Amino acid sequence: MSDCLFCKIIAGDIPSTKIYEDEHVFAFMDIGPLTKGHTLLIPKEHAANVFEMSEEVASHLFSVAPKIANAINKTFNPVGMNLLNNNGEAAGQSVFHFHLHFIPRYDETDGFKATWNTK
Ligand code: 5GP
Ligand code: ZN
Repeated sequence: MSDCLFCKIIAGDIPSTKIYEDEHVFAFMDIGPLTKGHTLLIPKEHAANVFEMSEEVASHLFSVAPKIANAINKTFNPVGMNLLNNNGEAAGQSVFHFHLHFIPRYDETDGFKATWNTK
């Protein structure tokens, strides 16, 4: 799709830090990482969200997920990882080309588990 940001990233028209690519999917670092190593995995065939994806593409994309997660583990050595996907504006989606987030977790120092100190 010509005016889609992630289609432009796949085409190389917008630069990205690629970490994996095959015939059907592309993985790259998120430009605004929530934690160190935050990565996105997307299908090359444009689909706005999960509602538009074919079962074949979804099946392949999720079959690649362990490879991406393990590459992140090897590179950044987190202690856990969230896989997350937003579908639709109401669900927090801001780029309308399906993407699976890989958000490595590093214990309370990554900010997600910070506890309030009200003293
Ligand atoms: P969403 O909110 O749609 O689930 O996530 C969109 C993600 O895309 C965000 O985490 C955002 O940081 C990332 N993003 C937006 N624009 C760009 C870009 O131009 N390059 C890269 N690498 N990531 C982007
Ligand atoms: Zn697209």
